[in-house]
Amino acid sequence: MRVGVPKEIKNHEYRVGLTPDSVRELVANGHDVLVETGAGQGIGADDAVYEAAGASIAATPAEVFEASTMIVKVKEPQASERAMLRPDHLLFTYLHLAPDAPQTADLVKSGATCIAYETVTDARGGLPLLSPMSQVAGRLSVQAGATALERAHGGAGVLLGGVPGVAPAKVVVIGGGVVGAHAITMALGLGADVTVLDRSIDVLGGLSARFGAALRTVYSTRSAVEQYVLEADLVIGAVLVPGAAAPKLVTADHVRRMKAGSVLVDVAIDQGGCFETSHATTHAEPTYVVDGVVHYCVANMPGAVPRTSTYALNNATLPFTLALANNGYRKALADNPHLMNGLNVHAGQVTCEAVATALGYDY
Ligand code: NAD
Repeated sequence: MRVGVPKEIKNHEYRVGLTPDSVRELVANGHDVLVETGAGQGIGADDAVYEAAGASIAATPAEVFEASTMIVKVKEPQASERAMLRPDHLLFTYLHLAPDAPQTADLVKSGATCIAYETVTDARGGLPLLSPMSQVAGRLSVQAGATALERAHGGAGVLLGGVPGVAPAKVVVIGGGVVGAHAITMALGLGADVTVLDRSIDVLGGLSARFGAALRTVYSTRSAVEQYVLEADLVIGAVLVPGAAAPKLVTADHVRRMKAGSVLVDVAIDQGGCFETSHATTHAEPTYVVDGVVHYCVANMPGAVPRTSTYALNNATLPFTLALANNGYRKALADNPHLMNGLNVHAGQVTCEAVATALGYDY
């Protein structure tokens, strides 16, 4: 099969659909890979690196779409890319169709087969192609919070781990799922005093078994949130209620009463945020201050580290990419119901129930 990798064109998107290592795996499996010139620039892989891995280089996106059967990307296709999709194309990328009617209409019209990373499932009920980005965001949240705590960035001037003789900072993680667990890993690694709040006893039990006595686990109630947030130096918001906007667990009143120079990192901002005072920010201007409390609310945190993010994403997508290329999508989907859950649009029909319901398509 001819697999095509266009350069991402969404604003400030530096990731790429296939790493050179993934290209090499596809080539070793007998496939041709066509990569648009400069597609790997954002991860430090130039055309020569892709050629060494066995790819051919295309001068334009049109050339990639024209000559390929399977298109592997990161972000949803933009309007100019959607115009190049054909019924014989297989598109494998993040789509996030439910809130995006124009994109869905274009994909339906194209007749292409479109598999969305974000709805592929695994045997444990997880979302294996979304999870790597939660891992990145969770780990980055501590880095972002530590920087914001520095005096020059508006923070109280507190070092997360303290030093011998000076107490470490108090880090409170609200939501102990994928983002939360990775934030905890980093915060404990830096020597902070870490508390996690979750409303699932199973989640707290798992974290307690994993991190031992170093981690304080607390059942999440209004009172517990208030108690721990008011004492915190850094609060990381990492809650998710599937299918719903994030609950506003930290109120404007809490923020008014927090310590001056403390920091809130709202990772859940892509679901509306879990702090009442949050609004989405960008990597260009990631923080703002409310009542002396620094807020970091970047909605696409993994974009800050496109290299790590691209490799993490490819580690998760590569087995599916290979299955699709080796077997063709019909057999690959028939063989794997979890991959089948990724099928969002096929032959002019919306094939994902949640998307069809959200946008009023027949299902
Ligand atoms: P997850 O489902 O793995 O974990 C969410 C956790 O929140 C669960 O353990 C759940 O029990 C807990 N929770 C729900 N309600 C709670 C409450 N009231 N109090 C305490 N805990 C509660 O989800 P995840 O993958 O860790 O993602 C967390 C959030 O981070 C999501 O909103 C996700 O969209 C977002 N996210 C943002 C970025 C970014 O760049 N900003 C990147 C990745 C993920």
